[in-house]
Amino acid sequence: MTQAAKLEANIGQAKPAGPQLRILHPSEITDSAPAALRTASPELLAELKRESLALETASPQEILRWAVDRYAPRFSMATAFGPEGMTIIHMLAELAPETPIFNLDTGYQFNETLELREEVKRRYGITVELKQPELSVEEYERENGGRVYTHNPEKCCQDRKIKVLAAAAAGFDAWASAIRRDQSDDRAKAPIVGWDKKFGLVKISPLANWNKQQVWKLITDENIPYNPLHDQGYTSVGCWPCTRKTMLGEDERAGRWSGFAKTECGLHTSD
Ligand code: SF4
Repeated sequence: MTQAAKLEANIGQAKPAGPQLRILHPSEITDSAPAALRTASPELLAELKRESLALETASPQEILRWAVDRYAPRFSMATAFGPEGMTIIHMLAELAPETPIFNLDTGYQFNETLELREEVKRRYGITVELKQPELSVEEYERENGGRVYTHNPEKCCQDRKIKVLAAAAAGFDAWASAIRRDQSDDRAKAPIVGWDKKFGLVKISPLANWNKQQVWKLITDENIPYNPLHDQGYTSVGCWPCTRKTMLGEDERAGRWSGFAKTECGLHTSD
């Protein structure tokens, strides 16, 4: 049996109505339930595990197709316009361009990053929605005694990213993440499909099994737009105050929160 046929069979088994199909029970996920209060039952976790294993050898496109079939229109994607995110946007533009995509607009993003949003609009006709914190940068810094990212990036990320995503999550059942397992020890444990308890969403990582070379090959082959900062020595791009260029031999995320023990903004950690 071919891989595609196996995948079809695996997915097909999970589709008929009945308890097996009940990925999201209304009592577990409702519009009015704050994301943090949504929990997954043991049955749901077991189901997600089965789905994840079935998709383990699927291509990113097959995984996205599954996610769209299963969760749209309550399937979404958050992007910081990194190479992996641009790759998924490119795939979604072909598979399901109506998928809502949003960006956590902290107020501290590089102009080059925000310009990519315009490029996505031009190239794919997709408008990436900007989700912003309640307070502007000026208000936030005034209320918190200045530039919070210089001494407490955990708080800054919590206020300007995590809380914003938590609010956005209430409108969805599942979201796509662009993480790759080979990016860090933390990310190495990411399933293809899993329960994101922090945001109360099913989290789907279509590129979990891809490496950096595969991502950049597709970008080159398909002429996918990417952040020009990558050509200037920034291997990973986040907010400008917390991003530096990396040197040869450094980890690709070494330029993020340099000088702090922090390695993740908290979106992709379970604590
Ligand atoms: S990456 Fe830096 S500037 Fe951006 S939200 Fe986190 S701490 Fe604040």
